Amino acid sequence: MHADKKRIIIKVGTSTLTAGTSKLHLPQITALAQQLAELIKRGDQVALVSSGAIAVGRERLGYPALPKSIPAKQMLAAIGQPRLMNVYEQIFDIYGLKVAQVLLTREDISDRKRYINARNTLESLLEQGVVPVVNENDTVATDEIRIGDNDNLSALVANLVEADLLVILTDQEGIYTANPSRSKDAQLIREVRGAEIPKEIWEAAGGSQNGLGTGGMHTKLQAAEIARRSGTEVVIASGLEPQILQRLVDGEALGTRIYAVVDKLESRKRFMLAGAVPRAGIRIDAGAAAALSEGGSLLPVGISEAYGKFERGDIVRVKDPAGKDCAIGLVNYACEDVKKITGKRSSEIESLLGFAYGDEVIHHNNMTLLG
Ligand code: GLU
Repeated sequence: MHADKKRIIIKVGTSTLTAGTSKLHLPQITALAQQLAELIKRGDQVALVSSGAIAVGRERLGYPALPKSIPAKQMLAAIGQPRLMNVYEQIFDIYGLKVAQVLLTREDISDRKRYINARNTLESLLEQGVVPVVNENDTVATDEIRIGDNDNLSALVANLVEADLLVILTDQEGIYTANPSRSKDAQLIREVRGAEIPKEIWEAAGGSQNGLGTGGMHTKLQAAEIARRSGTEVVIASGLEPQILQRLVDGEALGTRIYAVVDKLESRKRFMLAGAVPRAGIRIDAGAAAALSEGGSLLPVGISEAYGKFERGDIVRVKDPAGKDCAIGLVNYACEDVKKITGKRSSEIESLLGFAYGDEVIHHNNMTLLG
């Protein structure tokens, strides 16, 4: 990606998609698609985190009286999600955009194998200029594995793909010092900086609830807190404001902007170092060490030895011929498989292992250089 091009996650809630009504508001979705197309045209990579499955399911069934139970909601999501995707598919197509459905649960992010699968798939989609439309996999997400609200999901997605910016669109202009519908002194909080989000802001965001969506301002602020700690800047703003995305990306002071507390690369490095598998790693030759330092991926041909115990999706250290840790990253193959392909060409992976997860043992997108 070009230096000033950004990777942006946009979260739209049910209230934005329905424009506050009980059904999808197609002009609103059209406006969203048109704005995303503009961003992609200028070279940004964009993913959408979209709610609305349950609301659309309810609309499709003609608003039945249902118990408030999880199975009832899962049923509605199962009905609504394909219809929601169908609407996205058709409207985004007007602007020449391709969409992809990505349904996640908490396990997909906490389990190391699923984490790397989700991450690699999202990476590939973003690099192709396709818009991943992410939602929670509501039909299988029971209490234990649910993320529960799409605000937090959007923060996890921002972490997963190391986004520059997370825009949480809602039906309010941002976070206010008090409830704006009750207090006329309520003021929009324009920005939040510093290591901690001040207590007053947490309090100001407390308890605000809207109709069909799950999250209030509080979950939005929680999401912002997660995202900013891994280097993503967050803006909470009104999805009803015209051309909101361009204006935000251009730096216009709209909504509540919450600055990141760490640099993205620094955050990746800390994450990798904290999670590295002990007493395991990969030794590489001088050619591979040079390739890595120039931004290349680690290919089997440059490996001289894999040692210790690691699985696909684990974080492992990479040692140069002098025995120094030169990189660390998420590995695409388990140790025993790396042993079988050590020194071989990537084109031989499939025949040697009987399967292939790609040419790279560690992709450069999943790696941090050390030293
Ligand atoms: N996943 C839910 C849906 O698509 C929405 C959750 C939320 O609004 O936070 O209906």
